[in-house]
Amino acid sequence: MADLYGQYLRIKGEIDEAIQEVIRSSVFIKGGKVVDFEQNLGEYLQTSVVACGNGTDALQIAFMALGLQPGDEVITTPFTFVATVEVLALLGLKPVFVDVCPDHFNIDVSRIEAAITDRTRAILPVHLYGQNADMETLLGIARRHNLTVVEDAAQSIGADYLFTDGKIQKSGTLGRIGCTSFFPSKTLGAFGDGGALFTADPALAAKIRSIANHGMKVRYYYESVGMNSRLDSLQAAILDVKLKYLDRFIRARQQAAAWYDEHLADIGELSLPVRVPYSTHTFHQYTIRTEKRDELKEYLQRRGIPTMVYYPRAIHLQEAYLGLGYREGDFPVSERLTDTVLSLPMHTELTEEQLDYIVNAVKGFFTKGH
Ligand SMILES: *Cc1c(COP(=O)(O)O)cnc(C)c1O
Repeated sequence: MADLYGQYLRIKGEIDEAIQEVIRSSVFIKGGKVVDFEQNLGEYLQTSVVACGNGTDALQIAFMALGLQPGDEVITTPFTFVATVEVLALLGLKPVFVDVCPDHFNIDVSRIEAAITDRTRAILPVHLYGQNADMETLLGIARRHNLTVVEDAAQSIGADYLFTDGKIQKSGTLGRIGCTSFFPSKTLGAFGDGGALFTADPALAAKIRSIANHGMKVRYYYESVGMNSRLDSLQAAILDVKLKYLDRFIRARQQAAAWYDEHLADIGELSLPVRVPYSTHTFHQYTIRTEKRDELKEYLQRRGIPTMVYYPRAIHLQEAYLGLGYREGDFPVSERLTDTVLSLPMHTELTEEQLDYIVNAVKGFFTKGH
């Protein structure tokens, strides 16, 4: 699914040197490399960045920083990685689900207003698989109803949002807070865990920084109940090297996606990922849909081709979240997607030979029967 070692070999010299530098300095927590990386990522995104321990923490810290109260409602989708919803549950907030669109997998903005109540405080869009949700519409709804927007940009770092007036902004910088993950297989991945929050508001950035550091104001004096969530200097050093290559990495993913598009175009039983007009697609995942998902997965597996199902069950039907009171049938689009989506191998090191092998296997499945 990913070739992290192959990617490392390409930039080994720089990565090894960055790691050695951290070891030589022996500043392993906070300090130089973390500050540099926050600065450089902030320049890339044109916002302020606070690094933290992982993407899940980033989401939790975001909602802690906003000061939401137990029982406050947050609108999000059930077709996401569990962390999006988990942090809400941990903080006593109430996740309120809105279904996604069948073609682009992101929140169906036409259904948001119907889900708003007088307890709604925030909307949490997830930019799934590397493509932005319809943020222009979503931000308009948030403005009209006085709601805060927190973006789950764990899969969409580097994606551009294209506003109708021509303005372009990076994914994760459109809401009040954006959250991302540097989990190794993410588009900008560390060699371990990492995450970050983005915000354009300096006071909020300071609050986020304090919460991520035990709620500390000045050393050993605490202004709020916080967490211990930090990016370590080794990960920051590695990420700082990889950040320079991020746009190239994204282009490599887009080229692989274009190859898949071209060679899988005319298979009737297969739907390819749809590109929306308001976002670039960074292809964290290249996700196809077919009624024969499980058979195709099995067929490819036998030919040595790994595939993944992101995600096999919607959150509202997960055992841990049945207490929210939703039932099967409540979010039919999400539920159908969990039965039909399949993500093909997608990374920066895919060769034409590998892509050829994969598309031929997929074509073989649909033409030869099985
Ligand atoms: C990966 C991911 C997260 C969590 O990130 P971690 O760094 O693994 O904690 C949250 N939301 C989405 C959509 C993700 O893909």
